[in-house]
Amino acid sequence: MKTVIGNWKMNVGTRESVALARGTILALRGKKVIPEVVVCPPFVALSEVRKVVARSHVGLGAQNMHGEEQGAFTGEISSRMLVELDVTHVILGHSERRHEFGETDEMVNKKVLRALEAGLVPIVCVGETSEEREKGEAKSVVEGQLRKAFAEARLRGKTFVLVAYEPVWAIGTGSPATVSDAVEMHEFVLGIMKDIFPSMKNGQIKVLYGGSVDGEDAYGFLREDAVDGVLVGGASIKPTQLNEILAAAIDVIEGQQAE
Ligand code: PEP
Repeated sequence: MKTVIGNWKMNVGTRESVALARGTILALRGKKVIPEVVVCPPFVALSEVRKVVARSHVGLGAQNMHGEEQGAFTGEISSRMLVELDVTHVILGHSERRHEFGETDEMVNKKVLRALEAGLVPIVCVGETSEEREKGEAKSVVEGQLRKAFAEARLRGKTFVLVAYEPVWAIGTGSPATVSDAVEMHEFVLGIMKDIFPSMKNGQIKVLYGGSVDGEDAYGFLREDAVDGVLVGGASIKPTQLNEILAAAIDVIEGQQAE
């Protein structure tokens, strides 16, 4: 099953989020096969989007959360608050949080542990900067981020984890990684995850690609076995683009079923 996550960032308010969520549900209506789809609106829109996606095939995700359960953390949102809103997924360690808000690997780790404890599916973002890639450090950077993010984490039978490989230089730039570079890194990521969680079962951990995915290039990524799905930012708030990405995921799933 391929996964499509829409990260709407700070780009839409509640009204637009509701319209986008309705459009996403419509795009999947009547389809014989349906990918796993999760939309991640801003916090303020979660409550209204929740009503729209209830009893649909579309899941609800948040874009971030705090590592503590509750307390004097003005302006922050906890895992408990998300669960109360039927949120099932949470993006953690997005490069914008790491680079714009100084989120460290230790903070990401705390959030990952808290999300797993709360029964949320963490969507853990990792990826190298262009300087790190040029220096040949892409894999060691990604490995370090993974090992620190999942330190002390335990996978229970029903725990699911999504890792999004998002090279920083590809996010919001219109220049995605090549499919072959993404596949190479996905295989590497899966190997590290197997080392961290030797008892992990097939499908328990998925590796998604993120970074300038649009309607045109989505199929090329999604058709690769090593790419379990895509995390989409900019294109996920453009209905035509999003519909093309969903159509690509559906094509790939249908193709797999026909094999
Ligand atoms: C993202 O925000 O995670 C992302 C991949 O953004 P974009 O698709 O716009 O590059």
